[in-house]
Amino acid sequence: MDLELSEEQAAVRQLAREFSDREITPYAAEWDRAERVDRGIVKKLGSLGFLGLTVPEEYGGSGGDHLAYCLVTEELGRGDSAVRGIVSVSLGLVAKTVAAWGSEAQKRAWLPRLCSGDALGCFGLTEPGTGSDAARLATRAVRRGETYLLSGTKTFITNGTWADVALVFARSNEDPGHRGISAFLVPTDAAGLARREIHGKLGLRGQATAELVLDDVEVPASAMLGPEGKGFSVAMSALAKGRMSVAAGCVGIAQAALDAAVAYAGEREQFGRTIAHHQLVQELIADISVDVDAARLLTWRVADLVDRGRPFATEASTAKLFASEAAVRAASNALQVHGGYGYVDEYPAGKLLRDARVMTLYEGTSQIQKLLIGRARTGVSAF
Ligand code: FAD
Repeated sequence: MDLELSEEQAAVRQLAREFSDREITPYAAEWDRAERVDRGIVKKLGSLGFLGLTVPEEYGGSGGDHLAYCLVTEELGRGDSAVRGIVSVSLGLVAKTVAAWGSEAQKRAWLPRLCSGDALGCFGLTEPGTGSDAARLATRAVRRGETYLLSGTKTFITNGTWADVALVFARSNEDPGHRGISAFLVPTDAAGLARREIHGKLGLRGQATAELVLDDVEVPASAMLGPEGKGFSVAMSALAKGRMSVAAGCVGIAQAALDAAVAYAGEREQFGRTIAHHQLVQELIADISVDVDAARLLTWRVADLVDRGRPFATEASTAKLFASEAAVRAASNALQVHGGYGYVDEYPAGKLLRDARVMTLYEGTSQIQKLLIGRARTGVSAF
């Protein structure tokens, strides 16, 4: 792998960096306090092509490779994870999954709108009773002629109240395990679909996280994404690439923590000199710096494998596990560098820590990543 970025990759990173510095970072604390990012950001993300990266241009995407996607995701995550999550879900979990599994009609119906930001997508896998053990989900899809009726509850759904289309996983046959699950593209204005925003989150407060209740929601049979009974494979393939995107977002958090810690250490004086002169403060900064580099390299390795068409799932779990734990450590170390000032939201360290904390939970907890890596190394499944 060549670690030197191509001209195109360097250009898209620069574009994302400037966008993040201009349109996101100055507002991140305000959006966090208001529990709502400015929805206008979605159209801006779309117009720069950030909602269509890696999607073929014939479907309205902006093309590009997965390393470019990771570079943009990192820069957005450096600005505000609440914004980064909009892209990771609408593009990473929904549009890319439609591109990979969709029929021609599904691609034509949804991809141009998702890539431009005219529409947003959400990913409905988790239910109140099933998180890590998603294969036991209970939402039902009952066939009635040329339609399916979907009933059940999805929870913790990112973009939930904002999305125009929900990728919903439901049980469509009698198999009680993963072979019973199919995926459906459900317009969120469908009759019988109710949405409720979840408030009181520790972090990602600017993001619309919601519960979706489906009560006999009728969709045509053509709304099924991928073959009948293959919904779990659809979900797992989406999440494998999704973990790369979460890892890239975590690199952004860790980089923001490093930038904030270095800036503060260079300004704050104690014992007659800036705290950057104190060796134990340098130790905190060195630890953050190593976490940034290691997380970034693990993430780039996944992008490289994806772009080469090689297997990448275990490497994606490795990157997600390490980068999410590293982001929490980095943000906590940055807060320590700030002393008491790190504990108030005038400085970014506290928000970085709150936002980082969920990264070890969603798209597979750290424990689940360890089980996936352990299974790949030993050949024995602990599930
Ligand atoms: P549980 O599965 O109940 O786990 C509880 C604890 O038990 C964890 O520590 C876990 O690691 C541990 N555990 C479980 N099983 C095992 C095991 N076999 N061995 C060892 N330890 C185990 N879901 C979506 O579908 N779409 C979204 O857009 C989405 N966005 C989210 C946004 C936010 C802000 C949050 C908080 C969650 C989101 N989720 C989403 C849900 C998320 O993916 C789940 O919360 C996650 O998968 C964990 O499931 P759970 O919360 O039910 O925890």
